Amino acid sequence: MATYSHSRVSTFEQCPFRYKLQYIDHLKVETPTTIEAFMGDLVHKVLEKMYEDKKYKKRVAKSTLIKFYKELWQKEYSENILVARKELTADNFKKMGEKFISDYYDKYKNDDMTILALETQQMMTLPDGNSWHVRIDKLGCKGDVYYVCDYKTNNSMKDQEDADSDRQLAMYSSWVKDKFRDAKKVILLWHMLTFNKEVTSERNDIQIKKLQEEIVSLIKEIEKATKEDNFPRKQSALCSWCTFKEHCPSFKHELVLEKKDITEYKKDSGLKLVDEYSSIKAELTELNLKKEEFESKLIEFSKQFNFDVVYGSNNLVKVKEIEKIILPEEKEEFIALLKEKGIYDACSMICYPKLQSKYFKNELHPHVHGKITKEKDFRLTLSKRKEE
Ligand code: SF4
Repeated sequence: MATYSHSRVSTFEQCPFRYKLQYIDHLKVETPTTIEAFMGDLVHKVLEKMYEDKKYKKRVAKSTLIKFYKELWQKEYSENILVARKELTADNFKKMGEKFISDYYDKYKNDDMTILALETQQMMTLPDGNSWHVRIDKLGCKGDVYYVCDYKTNNSMKDQEDADSDRQLAMYSSWVKDKFRDAKKVILLWHMLTFNKEVTSERNDIQIKKLQEEIVSLIKEIEKATKEDNFPRKQSALCSWCTFKEHCPSFKHELVLEKKDITEYKKDSGLKLVDEYSSIKAELTELNLKKEEFESKLIEFSKQFNFDVVYGSNNLVKVKEIEKIILPEEKEEFIALLKEKGIYDACSMICYPKLQSKYFKNELHPHVHGKITKEKDFRLTLSKRKEE
């Protein structure tokens, strides 16, 4: 049995290949974290200190917390931290964090919530026997109402729909109900620090059970991928924030280029191959357009002089007027008619992409599947590089 967590299963959903690099291969990376995660982590540490000090009846001044935050930043910041948004600097994030702490302090300094735990490191057992990491930023209560609180430092405001479908805190709510039997209510509470706002939600037992089933089925998928060593790459906008790019075949070459000076950059063999390939593709497109233009001109010419063969120095072109059929727009109806009249089989062709997709999804009859073999091939796709 293994231990899973919200971030672990979310990583698998985001990109199975990243999951493999991070959780199976445990690869070391040059980029330790992203600036967003770094700043978020420090803000968490500062707010933890605020409550720890309060617990021991120590006076907690806002200036002390800000000073602590700046000292942490000074001590832990490294140039290797990834700042994916090129229009921003690490300093922008440092100031954001400072503002989050300041606003939070002003809003909650007199809050009467009893704090039960901070940054928990607990485990709960899932219905399939695996363990689930319970990492609650702040667990508190007011009487028999319990609060599972999460500090969010990201830039998108969670709306009610997001909160009602959020998985992370909902999973923790079952742990709270189990551990604290006096809990009449468990409120899930997000401190949206960027917006200085709170969002709350609740889950009933049926919703929690359904969620646990979903998690168990996701874990099954992860275990299947692990058994088959099948972790495809899933590129998305989030790749810009992936700290495993240096190990990812989809980005390794880009990082190699980034490290080269301009002379070495221009000499790179891969870069030269892609540049030449793209110019050949562009020439081919242009030539195809030209071909169509010349075909139209030849048709015009042959019609004008009533020639059906036009002669060049070494070649000739036969221009023959032909008739071709146009199928009705109602395709489905037409296919049904062909089938009804018994001529569909004689006129239809195998749809190769559909057949291939069904083959790889194991959707074909075993006899058909068994008749087909497979081999390795390559497909090249040319597209624009993202602007820096
Ligand atoms: S860069 Fe993108 S595709 Fe590559 S491992 Fe990271 S998330 Fe996956």
